[in-house]
Amino acid sequence: MMLSEPFTKASSILNTLASNGYEGYFVGGCVRDFLLKKDIHDIDIATSATPSEVITLFPKVIPVGMEHGTVIVRQGGESYEVTTYRLDGEYTDYRRPNEVRFVTNLAEDLRRRDFTMNALAMDSNGRITDLFHGKEDLEKKLIRTVGNAEERFQEDALRILRAVRFSSQLGCTIQADTFQAMYVIRSQIQHLAVERITAELTKLFQGYHVAKAIQYIIDLRLDEQLPIFEAGNSDIFKEIKKNIIPLQSFSEVIAVFHQLEPTIKIHDWIRKYKCSNHIKNDALKLINAFQFYRSHGLDNWLLYILPKKLWAGWIRLVFVMDHTTIQHEQLEEIDAILPIKERADLDVNGNDLIDWFPQRSKGKWIKQILEEIEYLVVTMQLANEKKIIKEWVLCNQQEPN
Ligand code: ATP
Ligand code: MG
Repeated sequence: MMLSEPFTKASSILNTLASNGYEGYFVGGCVRDFLLKKDIHDIDIATSATPSEVITLFPKVIPVGMEHGTVIVRQGGESYEVTTYRLDGEYTDYRRPNEVRFVTNLAEDLRRRDFTMNALAMDSNGRITDLFHGKEDLEKKLIRTVGNAEERFQEDALRILRAVRFSSQLGCTIQADTFQAMYVIRSQIQHLAVERITAELTKLFQGYHVAKAIQYIIDLRLDEQLPIFEAGNSDIFKEIKKNIIPLQSFSEVIAVFHQLEPTIKIHDWIRKYKCSNHIKNDALKLINAFQFYRSHGLDNWLLYILPKKLWAGWIRLVFVMDHTTIQHEQLEEIDAILPIKERADLDVNGNDLIDWFPQRSKGKWIKQILEEIEYLVVTMQLANEKKIIKEWVLCNQQEPN
């Protein structure tokens, strides 16, 4: 098969390995996505060379995971994960292999991979090694484990979530035995590191076929194994499925869930799913803007509190919750007429207020009045001019109590 651009560029790595007497293949997701004619985001290489041998062959190598056999080779501005053929050792904690053994042939390396469609290898001429009918499953869009499904999920329960995630990304159906084993082994999900669960759910909600994946979560009762839902909030998934569209960040996911079940605080989602502050802040802004919109509709204040980078996510949130489509241009129009973009743009500040009320001692009244002014200016009930604002303040402000 003719190789496409990212592979032709990466072939030189396979060639260097070959001219030094080592095998090297493209493996995993990149081969799958190549056969599906999808964009390739990263190219992984499996080789018979050990990590220390790989290091000697290339000028720029970053030793990211030597103990797992992985190094990153930098070449032509790209990064390639180059991993020594390996077997995963025994699995004792349901999570990660606690020992890695290097092996000398490709077949063993492919056998440890999760699904047949992910167990394909390709050489520098585009020839595919397919030991488990991965191409056929890919054509039928079937997710099937390599080997005994129960054993494979028992080894690593993350594969259960990966299967559902791939169904979302690729629109695949889960093969019957694989599905059955997922159901049997599902309680092991609880033992996974939560960061890994969050990462899979993030990708799951981004997938084009997210509704199909959510149906799997419901059918397999996987929700009962997930943080927060384990406490019996399972109906949320049925609710969310109704209008779901792909969500681009976990902040959006949290915002949707919180809106559907307001008794669970954003803070709890963040803590239980170990999210970053960045995810938390965006989730809070999305929710604030959404709730403001519910009570006021599209108006100046909404645009003022919603940063532009969250517009697209907010539009998706409104669609999922209200089945209403808001156009980017509608937001653009309002945004263009905002008198100020931020607090600092106000023509007055705390010092002005202190000057106008010399008899008052400093306190939270300053912040309160500024907030009121800010709201009135943004909503164009008050001009952003010091003189006018001063008049308004002096007329409207009583002595503090
Ligand atoms: P994508 O990168 O598009 O999310 P991927 O299939 O490349 O999907 P990665 O997590 O990058 O997924 O893993 C690369 C390859 O490593 C997989 O295709 C699979 O062969 C193997 N793999 C990854 N995770 C597991 C796992 N938990 N169990 C077994 N094999 C795995
Ligand atoms: Mg990958």
